[in-house]
Amino acid sequence: MNGVERLRGVQENILKWQKQSPLTAKNITLIAVSKTHPAEAIIPLIEAGQKVFGENRVQEAAEKWPAIREKYPDVQVHLIGSLQSNKTKEALTLFDAIHTVDRQSLVEAIVKESAKLKEVRCKQFFVQVNIGEEEQKGGVAVKDTPELVEYIRAQKAFPLSGLMCVPPVDETPAPYFALLHKMAADLELSNLSMGMSGDYEAAIRLGATHVRVGTALFGERH
Ligand SMILES: *Cc1c(COP(=O)(O)O)cnc(C)c1O
Repeated sequence: MNGVERLRGVQENILKWQKQSPLTAKNITLIAVSKTHPAEAIIPLIEAGQKVFGENRVQEAAEKWPAIREKYPDVQVHLIGSLQSNKTKEALTLFDAIHTVDRQSLVEAIVKESAKLKEVRCKQFFVQVNIGEEEQKGGVAVKDTPELVEYIRAQKAFPLSGLMCVPPVDETPAPYFALLHKMAADLELSNLSMGMSGDYEAAIRLGATHVRVGTALFGERH
C-alpha cells in the first residue's frame, strides 16, 4: 500500500467508527503525524486532500514546512510534542495549533511572545494532561488541570480549544480516554486530541475530535 491508499483506509475507519458509537464527535480532524518523514512522503497526501499535519519538534518542522507551504499555503501544521519556553516565539509563527500547553510558565511565555509578534499564526491551543500520571511524560497532572485551565481563562491568555493526552503505552487506553472526556466535559471544553495509530478506534468511540495518526499513514519510523 502507498501513502494515499493508507490515507483512504484511515479515513474510512474514522467514518465507520464514528457511526458506531453514541459518544463520537460530529467532526473529527485527522492529524497526519509526519515527524521523521520527508516532504516526498508528505506531498502525495496533500495532493490527495489531507490538510492537517502534526510534528513533534519545532526544529524539524522549521526545516521542513516553510518550503512545503510555499506551494500549499492552506495546509495546517500542529505541534504535538513538548514545547520548551525558549522556542515559544518560533512555535507561534510556525504552527497553527499547539497541543502541549502543560504549565503556567509556558502560558506566560505564549502571552508575552504573542504580544510582541505582528502576526501570530497559532490560533488553537490544547492543554496536555499527563493522564496516566507517568513520571517521564509531558502534561499537567490530572489533579492540577482545572487550575491551569482556570489560569489560562483568567489571564485571557488565548482561547482554549480542549484537552490532549497520550495514555501509557502498554495499557488499555479506553479508561484514559474516558477520563479525558469527562475532564473536558467538567471544564466545558469541546475538543479532545486523543488517539494514535494503535488506538484511534477507542479514542473515536470515546469522543475524540482530533486523532493524531502517524504510522498507519506513513509506515514505521526509522
Ligand atoms: C508520534 C506521535 C503520534 C503518532 O503516533 P503513531 O503511533 O505513529 O500514530 C501521536 N501523538 C504524539 C504526541 C506523537 O508524538
